[in-house]
Amino acid sequence: MSDISFYPGPSRVYSSVNEYIYEAYKDGIMSMNHRSPEFMEMMSSAKKHARLNLNIPEEYEIMFVSSATETWEIIAQSLIKETSQHFYNGAFGEKWADYTEKLGRKVIRTEFDLNAELPLDKIHSSAEWICITQNETSNGSQVTNETIAEIRDRSQGQLIAVDATSSMAGIHLDYEKADLWYASVQKCFGLPAGLAVMVCSPAVVKKAESIGEYNHYNSFLRILENHLKNQTHYTPNVLDIYLFYRTNKLSKGIDHINNKVNSRFNNWTELIEKLNGINWLVENEKVRSRTVLSLTHNQPEKVKEKAKKSSLILGNGYGKWKETTFRVANFPAMKGKEIEKLANFFERNYS
Ligand SMILES: *Cc1c(COP(=O)(O)O)cnc(C)c1O
Repeated sequence: MSDISFYPGPSRVYSSVNEYIYEAYKDGIMSMNHRSPEFMEMMSSAKKHARLNLNIPEEYEIMFVSSATETWEIIAQSLIKETSQHFYNGAFGEKWADYTEKLGRKVIRTEFDLNAELPLDKIHSSAEWICITQNETSNGSQVTNETIAEIRDRSQGQLIAVDATSSMAGIHLDYEKADLWYASVQKCFGLPAGLAVMVCSPAVVKKAESIGEYNHYNSFLRILENHLKNQTHYTPNVLDIYLFYRTNKLSKGIDHINNKVNSRFNNWTELIEKLNGINWLVENEKVRSRTVLSLTHNQPEKVKEKAKKSSLILGNGYGKWKETTFRVANFPAMKGKEIEKLANFFERNYS
């Protein structure tokens, strides 16, 4: 029997991907020219279905890039003139701040506790952007939609950028409450790595125009110009865009997926309360991620080894939580019977 991966990215892909890749090969998608009318039509449909599924406002643009990491650089080089403020409590939020600083921007770092809500009173009026990591994959914490709405209420003209890499397409997000959202597809979208989506409000386009930066292959305005023609700024991962199109076309939409992810999260919560020696890293349930479970144990290696013997792959801890935690993806592509198998494993060995 093959192993079941609960790794939070790259993670289990939707099982339909198998069939779609075969069809892509048969229909010549993999050698499709990325400036051809067929490609442009596919890209337009991909964006249309994603907009419907995720409830993305009509006036926001949906653009394809190669990764979340690329988006960190696009924002720094094309969208921040001088200063951005980064709120974080984990490794991904910190890396975003680091890359922004390396590209010569002034970065205001506001770290906050894993169990705390984002400190709204620390918003700086001098920053052009407020940057937040909605779902911090390294430690399993989240910033709620309510908090993002409060940031919007308190902001004084700052734009808001949100890393939603491990939550977009998994939980409901209020896109209109922030200006720029991004995610790579190897997490909640349930697709192979090598593609990311960037969702932008009209204010982001205005900001890019006011800066006018064109020095890079992936300068924001160059990406935008290509996108408006349903093309990309380089030869893209056409297969992944096709898989994105096919899975979005058949998706039941974010309300359905959000309910599924939340009800599974509630089941995990109930189970984990009953276990001995395994606990949540994030104790405050309100700021606990719904899609990435970060769990503590005094010997996480042992838990992972034991799970492996039952053909279950658990995710390593990440960054400073590497030695004390392991992680479990609660992504929508996980199957009910796979989750049952992992739940039984925990019950059998730790309760
Ligand atoms: C995985 C992840 C990234 C990096 O994604 P890439 O596709 O490797 O660039 C960035 N931010 C968060 C929150 C992530 O979970």
